[in-house]
This record gives sequence, C-alpha cells and structure tokens, in this order.
Amino acid sequence: MASAADSPIYATLRQRMVDEHLRARGISDERVLEAMACVPRHEFAPPRYRDQAYEDHPLPIGEGQTISQPYIVAIMLEALSLMPSDRVLEVGTGSGYVSALLAQLTAEVIAIERYPALADSASAVLSRLGYRNVRVVVGDGSRGFAEAAPYNAIIVSAAAPQLPHELMEQLAEGGRLIIPIGWEDSQQLQLIEKRNGQPRTSLRELCRFVPLISDKPM
Ligand code: SAM
Repeated sequence: MASAADSPIYATLRQRMVDEHLRARGISDERVLEAMACVPRHEFAPPRYRDQAYEDHPLPIGEGQTISQPYIVAIMLEALSLMPSDRVLEVGTGSGYVSALLAQLTAEVIAIERYPALADSASAVLSRLGYRNVRVVVGDGSRGFAEAAPYNAIIVSAAAPQLPHELMEQLAEGGRLIIPIGWEDSQQLQLIEKRNGQPRTSLRELCRFVPLISDKPM
C-alpha cells in the first residue's frame, strides 16, 4: 500500500518530518509515527505545493480548504488510541491524507466531505495508492453517517461551535471522538469518550481549523 509512487527524496523528507516535528515534540505512539512515515503526504497536495509537503504547516487544496498540519494530525490520531480492528468515521476528508493514515491504522474508514470536487479527488488518490478500506462519501458530516454507525472512533477535521449531537449518538460505547470546538480565532481540541452512554470530555491543545459548515443546527 501507498509507496508505489514514492521516491527516496520524499521518503527522506517524510522521515525527517516524523523525527523533527512529531517525535521530538512529544508524539510517542509508534503506530501513528510509523503510519506518518509511510503515507506519502505529497500525493495529497496540489502539484505546486508538493515541495512543501513535509513541512509542518497546512497546505491549500482548493475550495478555500487545507490539508491539516502534520503535528496536529499526529496529536489527534494519538489521542484516539486507535486499534487495528476499529471502524472509524472521519468528518472533513479534504485531501484524503488523514483518511489514508486512518486506513493504515484501522480496519475500516468512512470519510465524509461536503465538497464533491474534494471528495472525488481524495477518492481517486486513495484508490491509486491502493487503500481499499476507505469509503469516501459526499455529505454534511456534522450529521455523521448513520447507516454505517456505530464507530469506535470519530475524528472531525473542522471546527464546530459545539459537539454535534448526532456524532455522539453514532459513537460506540467505549468509543473516542476528537473535535476542535470554538470559533475562527479561538478553538481547542476536545477528546470525548463515551462511557455508559455519557460523554467524558478532556480539554486538549489549542488549534486552528476551518469551520465545520452545516445548513442545520448542530
Ligand atoms: N483532514 C483533511 C486533510 O488533511 O486534508 C482536512 C481538511 S480541511 C482542514 C477540513 C475539511 O472539512 C474541508 O475539506 C471542508 O470542506 C470539510 N468540511 C467542512 N464542513 C463539513 C461538513 N459539514 N461535512 C463534511 N465536511 C466538511
């Protein structure tokens, strides 16, 4: 999976990203580090940004959206304590980069994106790289994707003013959900575990994501 279109230069840059921006800053989950050393982020970036693919910042992908910063992606994946048998919902697929990481780390991924052009492009790259356990869906991910629920983990890559209640409903007992909560200039990651049907919330890092857009109240 994933390395057919790779090159030694990109592999070296990717390993440097893992060592200098992730491991050196406290990411210690070896499965997450290994996945990030393997998934070719440059394949998910528009051609004119490929030379920046292993720098630690977001990159434009069209439609006013971005591929998330590697360090914040690593924080979110590590916080979810993903198991190889997990079924995961990803809200805000964007480029498909995080979908590919989830596909390496878990058994099955449902990835929702509201822009059809981004969903099509993500789906094409994932398919070309050989990821067979990801299904990309076009839709409003703030409502989740009930037909494939429940999920062992949910990752939301866009910021909401509060936790969308349908995501909580679609989380399995014992499941983990990570989401940036807040407004444009003030957001914080929240890790929510579902225990006996109730949310247990831990406040995590400050962050800055594009907004989770929905036509209906969350
Ligand atoms: N993980 C993605 C990546 O690395 O490419 C991050 C993409 S970007 C930070 C967030 C994405 O969320 C955007 O592509 C945006 O269109 C999408 N988005 C925003 N609101 C959404 C919604 N209600 N449902 C699904 N996707 C949404």
